Amino acid sequence: MNRRAFLGGAGVALSLGVAGRRVTSPPDPVVVRVWFSESAATHDALADRVQGYLGAALRSALDAVEIELAPSTVTLAHEGGKAALGFDWPVTVAEGLVGMAEVDPVGDANLLVTDGDPRRQPAGYARPRVAATTGGAYIARMAPAGETPSVVPYSIPAAATQLLLHECGHALGATHGHGTARREGDALVASPMVGSYLWASERVRERHLDDESACGGAYPDARDAPERRLGLRYTDCAAGALG
Ligand SMILES: [Zn+2]
Repeated sequence: MNRRAFLGGAGVALSLGVAGRRVTSPPDPVVVRVWFSESAATHDALADRVQGYLGAALRSALDAVEIELAPSTVTLAHEGGKAALGFDWPVTVAEGLVGMAEVDPVGDANLLVTDGDPRRQPAGYARPRVAATTGGAYIARMAPAGETPSVVPYSIPAAATQLLLHECGHALGATHGHGTARREGDALVASPMVGSYLWASERVRERHLDDESACGGAYPDARDAPERRLGLRYTDCAAGALG
């Protein structure tokens, strides 16, 4: 589904870019609008970290991107769980498209960040143009994006931050098949679209990962390397699928 189809006849105006950048007909930016649950919004650093990490990843993958913070928070009955992430939020976005909810969706990606526990499944959820991710408290604990390398050791805050990129990547069209994993010394590095599935049980891994990346290359066996690292940039393969 492209952004025009998603917005349909709802009459939602797309932002055309930052004033002053229109002189040489810039590319139509991909717009990601981010909402926080009431609880997630209590973490002071969260908005900065989400904008920083998502912005760095998307800017290196796309010609033009805008990350907008929604002006209001979202009241949730639950911060996690399949119903809250995979049903309530998509319904709220759909209702917002026709003026029946307080949210004002955009045509590219509508992302909800909650305070749910990212160690519990499902930790996130996405469908075309809509995504929800848990772990707000953990993402807020990350150092500012500008001070963080693009590959980091595995930690819960880093995994929650990578999950944010993972779910937003899905909303923009990337699949697990667009992710890659590579060996780097004693470590395996999982890109955002592969994420922690690389180290999941064989049953979970088989359900979510094909034998090879869509852009070629088999995923290495997680037992091959003792160290776990997480990439915080989309691979070229995933970047080609985003939009
Ligand atoms: Zn996924």
